[in-house]
Amino acid sequence: MLSPSRRIATVLSCIVLLVTCYISLYSRNLFPITFTEKHHASREATPELRTDLDDKLNYSARPGVQTRTSWNASIMWELMFDNNLFDRHHKKANTAVALTVFAVGRYLEAYLKTFLTSAEEHFMLGLPVTYFVFTDLPEKVPNIKLAPHRNIQLVKVEKHSRWQDISMMRMKTISEVIDTVLQHNFTYVFCFDVDQIFKARFGSEALGESVALLHAHYYKLPKYRFTYDRNPKSKACMTEGDYYYHAAIFGGTCEKVKALADYCYVNIMEDKLNDVEALWHDESHLNKYFWLNKPTKLLSPEYCWDNFISDTTDILIKRLVWAPKDYEKLRTR
Ligand code: UDP
Ligand code: UDP
Ligand code: MN
Repeated sequence: MLSPSRRIATVLSCIVLLVTCYISLYSRNLFPITFTEKHHASREATPELRTDLDDKLNYSARPGVQTRTSWNASIMWELMFDNNLFDRHHKKANTAVALTVFAVGRYLEAYLKTFLTSAEEHFMLGLPVTYFVFTDLPEKVPNIKLAPHRNIQLVKVEKHSRWQDISMMRMKTISEVIDTVLQHNFTYVFCFDVDQIFKARFGSEALGESVALLHAHYYKLPKYRFTYDRNPKSKACMTEGDYYYHAAIFGGTCEKVKALADYCYVNIMEDKLNDVEALWHDESHLNKYFWLNKPTKLLSPEYCWDNFISDTTDILIKRLVWAPKDYEKLRTR
């Protein structure tokens, strides 16, 4: 138990933090992000770029799995789409994609190089892509040879001491970078965990206004097994939902991803003020957001597979896989 004075101090500092967070969300440039390089691309998203290719999808190509949600969002599985059609459309539309990834503390050495080199082999090939790497150790970021029209931007961030905070506070940083840079230069933004490896095409068919990923461990389970936050004290609490989404990948237009990040961040901070933490941290808040704001496209677990799962009957292609995790090494300070 905290002493009364410690407790008052904690509550006061939480209030200051929450007020700061509201101010930073609603007034731009209060916490300007400093870049180690200047970014030059300038690309305005026009409404034409947002045209959907959904009516060109073959929804009956995969009889064993669900290919459309009850609100008519596509669930992307192998065999449903024509790669070339999507690529041609997005090249013509001058689509530019930003990928955000965090590599803080030991995660940098453990994962970043493989993540980036494999992305260069499989992520949105043929489209201009800029990787925004957020790290506390920019000088340790490996030099990766990038294809033409692909760039990397390093952004220095502070290291929170708890891994849960490193994970959750990504939402604040993502919101800020969309506000200050991405919205002026990129049509879409995709946010990734770093502990993953691209293995096959992760292409323009994955782009959409608001994109969520079905969690490999839960896509086949009944809803009562979903690990939503069920604690009424948390803002992430939910009693029903559609799917269990995995926070390792989410994306969409800058506007939609910013709305998601803001929502999660504000609710994470409110939980802190109330001395609670959602069961699966940022992922619990993301699940709540997508319950209240339905995604326009879902990615099947082919887009983020865990090789420890033995039942692969639905998985015709592994586009990206979870990297092995040494918890002992990564999560002790
Ligand atoms: N992360 C990081 N350093 C840390 C903890 C987390 O860079 O010490 C970032 C990293 O991008 C990681 C993501 O936050 O992929 C989410 O954390 P983690 O992958 O450990 O969560 P899990 O996938 O196990 O839920
Ligand atoms: N996960 C979950 N419920 C579980 C186990 C795992 O929701 O009971 C999800 C959650 O998204 C977590 C991810 O699976 O972030 C990675 O699971 P892992 O076994 O690596 O859990 P961790 O030790 O990283 O917390
Ligand atoms: Mn992860």
